[in-house]
Amino acid sequence: IVNCEPLKELIRTVPDFPKPGILFYDITTLLKNKAGMAQLIDAFAAYYIDKEIDLVLGIEARGFIFGPALAYRLNAGFVPVRKPKKLPAPTAKVTYDLEYGSDALEIHLDAIEPGQRVVIVDDLLATGGTMQATVKLVRQLGGEIAGIGFAIELDFLKGRAKFQEYDVFSLLHYD
Ligand code: 5GP
Repeated sequence: IVNCEPLKELIRTVPDFPKPGILFYDITTLLKNKAGMAQLIDAFAAYYIDKEIDLVLGIEARGFIFGPALAYRLNAGFVPVRKPKKLPAPTAKVTYDLEYGSDALEIHLDAIEPGQRVVIVDDLLATGGTMQATVKLVRQLGGEIAGIGFAIELDFLKGRAKFQEYDVFSLLHYD
């Protein structure tokens, strides 16, 4: 497996974004780097290539950035999981709690065939609430969750604990 640690130098941290007290991990500085972008996709592809993946699911918005590139490399399809009212055809919807208030995600009802092997990707695992909501959608549609992948995992938030029955893979870890 590829050593991704050097990619950390390409990730920019922005204090007090989007709110005071939050340190935001900004991957745009990694994405614009030629070698960095290639290594990011290569590392994901290396991990999932032998896992017979049918579909890569990307969570809006940053899961849309590398999800399709990974799907291409795996000869898999790509499915978007979106914020409410963006998808045109009939959807399944799940609502989840945030620190203040709630949010929701949707997927097209016909996006996954029962038994298809799915990898869900997002840029960053914090509390895991966003991914947990997406896991519910995939289960509702009868997909088999073959993996859950992140570019960055914030280990100290212990979001991983929500996914004990799944294969969780993160390229980079921060304590
Ligand atoms: P969680 O639901 O795990 O608490 O939060 C993860 C979600 O919030 C992901 O969709 C991720 O894109 C976004 N997010 C939270 N903090 C950060 C951050 O520091 N950097 C980036 N790029 N995304 C973040």
